[in-house]
Amino acid sequence: MSQTPKSWAMLHTKCPRCRRGDMFTGGMYSFGFNKIHQHCPHCNLHFEIEPGYFYAAMYVSYALNVAEALTIVAATYIFSHNIDSPWLYTGVILAGCILLSPINFRYSRVLLLYWLSPKINYQPHLDIDDTTPYL
Ligand SMILES: [Zn+2]
Repeated sequence: MSQTPKSWAMLHTKCPRCRRGDMFTGGMYSFGFNKIHQHCPHCNLHFEIEPGYFYAAMYVSYALNVAEALTIVAATYIFSHNIDSPWLYTGVILAGCILLSPINFRYSRVLLLYWLSPKINYQPHLDIDDTTPYL
């Protein structure tokens, strides 16, 4: 039995317990469908462990935004050859944060469930190709 690699499962936003079920509905940039499932469609894990659990994802999202903004500032500094226009930096940072917000929404929750939730552990016996959900 081959196990699904953790990095692959995180990149494809799979369930942290079985690494098979999708965590989100729809595409990343589709309007109105960027929602998380209540339960894993494969192993029936309840993703929101307790009420309001995903408020903690805001802190992860904030850290992602800061890292992205610093990267965007460095790239703008390099590619603009140090133009001293604050509006250039402000506009580029705002555009980058808006464009990356669907990615931050998803991966902040993925990072929260994979790295910051000690109650959720990978269970290899659920990582099988069987399409019958474990209810
Ligand atoms: Zn699952």
